[in-house]
Amino acid sequence: SPSLTGKAALISGAARGLGAASAWAICEAGGQVMIGDLLVDRGEETAAELRAAGHAAQFVRLDVRDEAAWAAAVDATVQAFGGLHILVNNAGIATAVTVEDLTVADFQTILDINLLGAFRGMQAAIPAIKASGGGAIVNISSNSTRRVSAITTSYAATKAAVANMTKSAAIHLAQSGANIRVNSVHPGPHATDMLLGSDAKADLPEVQALRAAIPMGRMGEAREVGAVVAFLASDAASYVTGAELFVDGGLTP
Ligand code: NAD
Repeated sequence: SPSLTGKAALISGAARGLGAASAWAICEAGGQVMIGDLLVDRGEETAAELRAAGHAAQFVRLDVRDEAAWAAAVDATVQAFGGLHILVNNAGIATAVTVEDLTVADFQTILDINLLGAFRGMQAAIPAIKASGGGAIVNISSNSTRRVSAITTSYAATKAAVANMTKSAAIHLAQSGANIRVNSVHPGPHATDMLLGSDAKADLPEVQALRAAIPMGRMGEAREVGAVVAFLASDAASYVTGAELFVDGGLTP
């Protein structure tokens, strides 16, 4: 497994789901983690569970739509751990709506969180990562960048934009000698609150059909995304920047 000993990470949307799994993976690789999320109770609980397992973890309330909150979250991470080396832009929301039914207001909301949230995160974190001697940014996109359906109008648009923004930032930070790599992770279906919400939904026909479409025959486990995030954040991925890594059991064509 990759080594992140002495590295400090800030992860948005890490109270639960894939973000929490990324926090566990980074901690298990020796890193320290600041969990940023809107969900205060759940975020505090995740941080407490990590500490109970012997890891260095704290929680900060973060709304990725708020630039001042991002600045405060970066400061809190540097304060807590003495630096910032890793940013994981994971916070996101999903919508399922066709081009005919989507409203401009709803489109703006998801853009503000999924795309601009990650942009604000990079702007806030890059100076602190530079000041800490470099590191890595991992942006959580989705396999929906390549696997579009009738109801991914806004969601897939934001996730494709995240991937291209990632690539552009990667080129800039490589050329400017900042020693910061930037990559996007593209999960396929994972059984988190976002996708299923409850165990009851796991047996729905459409969920069974989805599972059947995956070459590996199963949905992903959150920790299988966390492991990839920790790898990209580590020196094991020292020549990987601007990459789009699909974590989807072979689903994406
Ligand atoms: P989730 O809903 O379980 O977790 C998302 C977290 O983000 C929540 O804790 C939520 O409170 C937080 N969040 C939402 N809006 C926020 C905001 N404005 N500021 C701060 N935090 C906010 O979802 P998940 O499945 O763990 O998804 C994590 C990421 O992975 C998302 O970007 C999602 O689009 C992406 N993704 C998930 C799947 C999947 O199948 N679960 C597939 C592809 C991509």
